[in-house]
Amino acid sequence: MLLIGAPGAGKGTQAQRIMAAWGIPQISTGDLLRDHRARQTPIGRVATSIMNTGKLVPDDLVNEMVAERLAEPDTTRGYILDGYPRTLGQAEWLDDKLASLSGLPLIAVSIRVSYTQLLRRITGRRICPTCQRIYNVYLQPPKVDTVCDVDGTPLVQRADDVEAVFHERMRTYEALTAPVVEHYRARSRFVEVDGEQSADEVLAGIMAAVTRFRSQSV
Ligand code: AMP
Repeated sequence: MLLIGAPGAGKGTQAQRIMAAWGIPQISTGDLLRDHRARQTPIGRVATSIMNTGKLVPDDLVNEMVAERLAEPDTTRGYILDGYPRTLGQAEWLDDKLASLSGLPLIAVSIRVSYTQLLRRITGRRICPTCQRIYNVYLQPPKVDTVCDVDGTPLVQRADDVEAVFHERMRTYEALTAPVVEHYRARSRFVEVDGEQSADEVLAGIMAAVTRFRSQSV
């Protein structure tokens, strides 16, 4: 399953829920890149400055990283790609890759959210560096100031969640990732959901589509 959406659309939240429901892994290229950055690998060193400006890491690096991840044994029953593909080049690479792989059916999900809601979700996002719990100072604030409810650690903001970088990420999304949605829209297993509903409703919309695809066995 591919989860496609602008920054803050809720891809990560839905990926976690689908992972829990189906027992298949979530593969987030943003998380993989942050992991490379933390380990200061060659990919991580190239990615750091690009990520901080809201631009995209070059396709060949991301594709290589995805190829490595898809070679791991936990992907044989399926997987959720979160935040990938983000360019037509990546989508075409993935089409070729899937043609040479297991033959698992591909489901593409587009999650749509308005610009103003995305802005609040992204610029309000704060993360606990200890337990990784995510808060939002506007929508889901911590109980006390800006410290984690669970362990009292001061919350931090991702460098690319500040407003100026958010606008750049949105420009990147419109220019490079919106065409990816169109690439999949014509396919038989494509669904677009309203990401401004509650997380439960969004999940229900995705699962209803999956059931429909199964019954049509397209
Ligand atoms: P995310 O956590 O998905 O918002 O990704 C954070 C940043 O990582 C993005 O703004 C990009 O700089 C980079 N990134 C994540 N996924 C991709 C991808 N599929 N292609 C290129 N760059 C990516």
